[in-house]
Amino acid sequence: LGGQKKYAALQMIGRGSFGYVVLARDNTTGEAVAVKVIRRGDVTKYVEGEITNHSQLRHPHVIQFREVFLTPEDVCIVMEYATGGTLFAYLQRAGRLHEPVARWFFQQLVVGVDYVHRRGVVNRDIKLENTLLQVVPQLPLPLVKICDFGYSKADFGSAAKSKVGTLTYMAPEVLVNRDADATYDGKMADVWSCGVMLFVMVAGCFPFGSFNDRDGSVAPPTEVLRVLERMLRVDYALPPGVALSPECADLLRRMLVPDPSRRIRIGEILQHPWFLCNLPPHA
Ligand code: ADP
Ligand code: MG
Ligand code: MG
Repeated sequence: LGGQKKYAALQMIGRGSFGYVVLARDNTTGEAVAVKVIRRGDVTKYVEGEITNHSQLRHPHVIQFREVFLTPEDVCIVMEYATGGTLFAYLQRAGRLHEPVARWFFQQLVVGVDYVHRRGVVNRDIKLENTLLQVVPQLPLPLVKICDFGYSKADFGSAAKSKVGTLTYMAPEVLVNRDADATYDGKMADVWSCGVMLFVMVAGCFPFGSFNDRDGSVAPPTEVLRVLERMLRVDYALPPGVALSPECADLLRRMLVPDPSRRIRIGEILQHPWFLCNLPPHA
C-alpha cells in the first residue's frame, strides 16, 4: 500500500464519502486488516478528530483502531477487519429482523455506544452502514462492531455545534436550524440515531422516510421540513403486517422522543424490559 511494505492491499471493500476502504494483509503477522484511505487533498478537520478519537477506544463492540500512516497522496487508517460486512447489507438480505435477532444486534450496539460516550466521545454518525459485523464461528449470529468516527467529537459535557451526520438518522434537534449556531447534546443525538436503527431492524423501513444524502445536501429543504414535521409529531407507523411486542414498541417510543431532554439516556436503555422479556422466537 502506497509503496510501503508492511501492508499488501488485497481488495476494495467499501467506498465512503471521504475515500475508500481496502482489505489488506499485514505482512508482519499475516493478519487481515482494513485500511481506510483518504486522499490528503480531501482531508478536512474531521479526519484529525476521526484519528484522535477512534485511537483512544478499545472495546469488543468498537472496530479496533491499529495505526495510521501517511503516503505522499493519502492518509491511511489501519484497523481491525470485520468479516461479516455491514448491518446494512445484512438487513438488505433479511428484509427485516425478528425481535430476538434485532435484540442481539441492538444490545451490542448500545453497549458499544455507551462505552464510546463514557470515554468522552460522541459518534454522530450511527447508522446501518457504520455498523459492521464480525463473524465468530462458535456464535449463531455475528458480533456488532461500531466503525467510522469521521464525524465524532470529543464530548466532555460540551455541547456540539456542527450539524453533521446522515439526514435519515439525524435527531430533530440537529436537523432543525441546521445552518444556525444552535448547539445540541451529541450523546442524546446518538440515542436518536440508535432509535432509528432499532426501528429499521424490526420494521424493515425507516420511521420518517429516508433521504438520498450521500453528500449531506441533496435533499431539498421542503423535503427536510416535511420529515422534520413528522418527527416532531412522532408520526411513525409500522408497515402493514408488522406487529411488535409491547416492550419493543415502548422502547421505540422512549427513544424517538423529539425533545432530547425527555429522551431515554443511553445508559438506561439496557434496563428496559425489552431486554428482559421472553420473546416468542418469531416475534
Ligand atoms: P466513510 O467515513 O467514508 O463513510 P467508513 O469508515 O464508514 O467510511 O467506511 C466505508 C465502508 O467501508 C463501510 O460502510 C464498510 O462497508 C467498509 N468498512 C469500513 N471499515 C471496515 C472494516 N474495519 N472492516 C470491514 N469493512 C469496513
Ligand atoms: Mg461511513
Ligand atoms: Mg464517515
